[in-house]
Amino acid sequence: MDFKPTENQVFIAETIRKFGDQHIRPRMMEWDEEQIFPVDMFRKLGELGMMGVLIPQEYGGAGLGYFEYVTVISEISRICGSIGLSVAAHNSLCSGHINQFGNPEQKKRWLPKLATAEWIGAWGLTEANTGSDALRMQCVAKQDGNHWVINGAKNWITHGKSGDVAVLLARTGEALDSHGITAFVVERGTPGFKAGKKENKLGMRASETTEMIFEDCRIPAENILGNVGDGFIQAMKVLDGGRISIASLGLGIAKGAYDASLKYSRERQQFGKPISQFQAIAFKLADMAAKIEAAELLILKAADLKERGEKVSKHSAFAKYYASEIAVQVSTDAVQIFGGYGYTKDFPVEKYYRDSKLCTIGEGTSEIQKMVIAREILK
Ligand SMILES: Cc1cc2nc3c(=O)[nH]c(=O)nc-3n(C[C@H](O)[C@H](O)[C@H](O)COP(=O)(O)OP(=O)(O)OC[C@H]3O[C@@H](n4cnc5c(N)ncnc54)[C@H](O)[C@@H]3O)c2cc1C
Repeated sequence: MDFKPTENQVFIAETIRKFGDQHIRPRMMEWDEEQIFPVDMFRKLGELGMMGVLIPQEYGGAGLGYFEYVTVISEISRICGSIGLSVAAHNSLCSGHINQFGNPEQKKRWLPKLATAEWIGAWGLTEANTGSDALRMQCVAKQDGNHWVINGAKNWITHGKSGDVAVLLARTGEALDSHGITAFVVERGTPGFKAGKKENKLGMRASETTEMIFEDCRIPAENILGNVGDGFIQAMKVLDGGRISIASLGLGIAKGAYDASLKYSRERQQFGKPISQFQAIAFKLADMAAKIEAAELLILKAADLKERGEKVSKHSAFAKYYASEIAVQVSTDAVQIFGGYGYTKDFPVEKYYRDSKLCTIGEGTSEIQKMVIAREILK
């Protein structure tokens, strides 16, 4: 395997660093403090092609592959996890679902606007009582002629309020039947569809997380992705790719926390020398660096399988589980290296620490990743 980044990856990383210095770093603490979802900044990222990374060029996207996608998410998250999470949800959940399972008409209708971030995308699977246990979802869709009438609510939805278009998973059959769920595309402004409570979160505070409520919401049958009853199987495939995204988010957060720690440990003097010269600190840095390297290799392996169209469930779960857990460990060590300063908002590591925890929860918790891995290896 060739580990050398492609020309595109190098270009993307440089572009994001420059963009981040100009448009993200100066405002990210304000967005975090006030829970502002910076829609205008996303439109600018769209102009750079970062909001339609995997969408084919014929539908207005960048038409790039998973290696480039990993670079986009990890380099953005190295700067700000919230922006990384939102870019990931837009690209691999909403746009990814339509791109993988939409017919040509549906792709023409929604993907060009999503690819440029003229429209922001959301994806609704989780409900208040059904997170890991999605097959028991209660949001229902009942057929009425050429329409389906949706009633219920989705919780924890990234861009649940600001999203212009959402892929919604709703029950069309029996509970616990993997063929009893269907994917619908719902546009903002459709009567009967509104946003509910916005969550006040520990981290990822600039990424909007909101409830979506459906009350007798009529959706035309032409908005169904694939066939009636295909939604759950589609969602699991979307999550296989999505997990590479969240793994890349964890990797980026870990890299950001490590970069800051390396620099600070060389500058901060105690007992007459830089703290990096104490073995206790140097070994922490060594552990952080080794974990980051291992996470990156797992992600590249999963990306490679995805690129070659092979089954990726086990490897995307490996990558998501490990990269998420090390993002928490590395950012915890980073706060320790900064000492009391790490506990303040004047330095960047407290934000990496808060943001990192989402990675072990979203798109399947670490426990669920271990269940996926165990199921695959015990087959
Ligand atoms: C910031 C944020 C953004 C999100 N964005 C989206 C989004 O855009 N779209 C969307 O659909 N969802 C989204 N989610 C929801 C997310 O995917 C769920 O929170 C996640 O799947 C876990 O579900 P839950 O919170 O209901 O936890 P639960 O499923 O209630 O789990 C609680 C605990 O029990 C454990 N557990 C559950 N079942 C088992 C089991 N069988 N064996 C062992 N342990 C188990 C879990 O690992 C966890 O530790 C988001 C969540 C957050 C926090």
